[in-house]
Amino acid sequence: MNKLLEAVIENNRRWTKDGKVATYIPELGKADQDAAGVCIITLDGEEYNGGDYKTKFTIQSISKIITLMLALLENGRDRVFSKVGVEPTADAFNSIINLETKNPQRPLNPMINAGAIATVSLIEGETSEVIFNRILNFTRKITGNPDININEDVYQSEKKTGDRNRALAYFMRSTGVIEQDAEEVLDVYFKQCSIEATCRDIARIGAMLSNDGVLPWSGERVVPRNIARIVKTIMVTCGLYDASGQFAVEVGVPAKSGVGGGIVAAIPGRMGIGVYGPALDARGNSIAGIRILEELSRELDLNIF
Ligand code: GLU
Repeated sequence: MNKLLEAVIENNRRWTKDGKVATYIPELGKADQDAAGVCIITLDGEEYNGGDYKTKFTIQSISKIITLMLALLENGRDRVFSKVGVEPTADAFNSIINLETKNPQRPLNPMINAGAIATVSLIEGETSEVIFNRILNFTRKITGNPDININEDVYQSEKKTGDRNRALAYFMRSTGVIEQDAEEVLDVYFKQCSIEATCRDIARIGAMLSNDGVLPWSGERVVPRNIARIVKTIMVTCGLYDASGQFAVEVGVPAKSGVGGGIVAAIPGRMGIGVYGPALDARGNSIAGIRILEELSRELDLNIF
C-alpha cells in the first residue's frame, strides 16, 4: 500500500502547477506550492503514507466538521438545525448573498463560513478561550494527538484580514442567528481554522467518522452513530464547497476540504484518508488533493454510491 501511495503522489504532483496557494489570508501564501502528501488509516489501525505526509498545515474549513460534531453533541440536532440549514449552495464558501436573499435567520449549511460561524456560536463556554479550548481538546482526542495546537501566525493573519467573516458574523448578529458578542465568536472561528495538523491527523478524523464515531485505535466512542452519520452526509453534499456535486460524481466519498490545502475523506467501514496539497483551484479546493483522491477511489474501489 505504501508503494501505491508513493506512485499516486508521483502521478499527481504535477497538478500542483495548475493551482495557486491561498493568499487572501497572507500567512497561507508561504506554503510550498509543489507539496503533495497522503495518509491512510484503516479501521484495523494500519497506517500508510506517501509524499509530503509529514508537512504541517492549518486545517481551515476541515475544522467545520469538528465544531459541527461538538455543537450537535451539546445541543442536539433540532437546536443546531434551527440555526443552520443542511442545503448545499452553488455559491462560494465565503459568499454573503444567500444570507440576505434566502433566509437571514438561517445560513444554508455548516460547511460554508456563515454556517460554520453560526455553528460555533452554539458551543457552550463562559469565554471564547474556554470554548476554543474545548474545541482544541476534542480535536486532540479525535486525532489521538495531544500535541495538536494552533499556528499562531496564521491565527493572527486571519484575525487581521478576516473582514469578510466579520461581515457575515455581524449580519447574523443583526438577524438573531448569533446571540453572543460577534468578535468573541469570530475569535473562536479564526482559532479553529488555524489549528495545525498533518495528513495523519486528519486521516484519523476520517477513520473515526468511517467507524461511526468510534476511535479505531482505542475502541472509545467519541460521538454517537447518528452524529457521525449526519456529518458524513453533509460532507457528501457540502464538503467541497460549490464543487461538491462534481466531487461526488468523480470520487464518491464523504470529504471535507480546507483552504490550507488539506482534504479529509471518510470511507464508511473502511478507512480515513488525509491528503495535502496547498495549491488550490478557483473554488478553494486542493487541486492535487482531488486528483489523488480520484485515483485512490479508482484503485481501491472507494466510491460509496
Ligand atoms: N479561515 C478560512 C476563512 O474563513 C476558512 C475557509 C476555508 O477553508 O474554506 O476564510
